[in-house]
Amino acid sequence: MISNSLIFLAISDLAGKTRGKSFPAVDLDKRLKTGLGWTPTNVQITCFDTIATSPFGALGDLILQPDANAEIHVDFEDGAAPERFILCDITSLDGKPWNFCTRTLLKTALARLKLACGATLLGAFEHEFQLAGEHPTLNEAYGLTGFSQRRTFGETLVAALKSAGLAPETFMKEYGQEQFEVTIGPERAVDVADAAIIVRELTRATARRLGEKATFTPIRDVSGVGNGVHVHMSFVDDRGEPLTYDPNGPGGMSALTASFAAGVLKYIGAIVALTAPSAISYQRLTPHRWSAAFNNLGLRDREALLRICPFTATDEKDIARQFNIEYRAADAAASPYLALAAIIHAGAQGIEDALPAPTITEEDLSLLTPEELSARGYTRLPRSLEEALDTMNASETVCGWFPEGFAELYTAHKQSELAFVADLDISQKCAAYEGTY
Ligand code: GLU
Ligand code: MG
Repeated sequence: MISNSLIFLAISDLAGKTRGKSFPAVDLDKRLKTGLGWTPTNVQITCFDTIATSPFGALGDLILQPDANAEIHVDFEDGAAPERFILCDITSLDGKPWNFCTRTLLKTALARLKLACGATLLGAFEHEFQLAGEHPTLNEAYGLTGFSQRRTFGETLVAALKSAGLAPETFMKEYGQEQFEVTIGPERAVDVADAAIIVRELTRATARRLGEKATFTPIRDVSGVGNGVHVHMSFVDDRGEPLTYDPNGPGGMSALTASFAAGVLKYIGAIVALTAPSAISYQRLTPHRWSAAFNNLGLRDREALLRICPFTATDEKDIARQFNIEYRAADAAASPYLALAAIIHAGAQGIEDALPAPTITEEDLSLLTPEELSARGYTRLPRSLEEALDTMNASETVCGWFPEGFAELYTAHKQSELAFVADLDISQKCAAYEGTY
């Protein structure tokens, strides 16, 4: 059959969906300069393809401006067309960054962090997802059989990620039914979130090519575990020297890391609407699901909001490079750009305000009474997206991190999404989200 190779210009929007437009590959040089047209109101397309109230209406024009350093070209060598897409910023017609471009919001947050303490982020998103096969594999948590049944999937995915320039580290049969996890090595600054998009889209592409379907929905069935997105973070200076670790600091944290963590804990109630942004995300953020339910920093604790991760190195220099903290209250309904921007702003605020190191917990906070929790400065994370949005909107500080009008736009967007699922029972809601993520 005749065919002309197409390249897709991609953005990750407020709904955490990868959207955009394509053009013939022969025009690549031209399109790297001119980009493709885009519509402001597209920012209000929800994950269910409803259009939320938009201040732009039918007016205005924008550009999808491709980043030549973020071009993905993966030939699966299966006879089908390669996956080709380029990650973009959204700009106005005169080339200025658009206020509501998620990738630009992340760049702004990273610049603030740099200004606050000279740090550049090194980080990696760890993704869990579930496959839908014809014959579900039962009782195979971490099982060799469960893994072997999807070995071809794992090997294809790892090859695809490598071919896209990432550094795949592990692939495993996770605990949940048909649940898998893929991890990659750290990237730098905005590449951290670019890599998360690449992982999600190549996972979906691998599944499609093998006749399967992959879902990153926050939770597929509330009687099971959720699909977490865990964000690993460390910091380096301009020479690439690690800034995260101090052997004499609490839990091994440098003062910078400690204040960053304190900022995240302080503002978690108001940022979680941006990192766990679906109606069902809050079914996952409950105790004993190894996600996160309280505003705590835990030492090697998989129920903590922020986890100080273990290291295997013995040499101090290597420890300093390995040392990282992990944010666990994120899921793939969030654009990785927006989720990371929110976390980085919260951490940078903590650094700017020189917040003291949080207490490090090594206990099950769900066993404490509400009085005990509040006496010790802990709060339960919001229990619904509505509560999370209210908390965000009540924080002038958090709304102030984003351009004027952003909080209103995001809230209207999420209200339209919530209205779409309002009359569904919980299993219908889960099915709706599985259908979109
Ligand atoms: N599935 C858990 C989550 O929702 C994470 C389990 C793990 O620690 O890998 O975050
Ligand atoms: Mg996991």
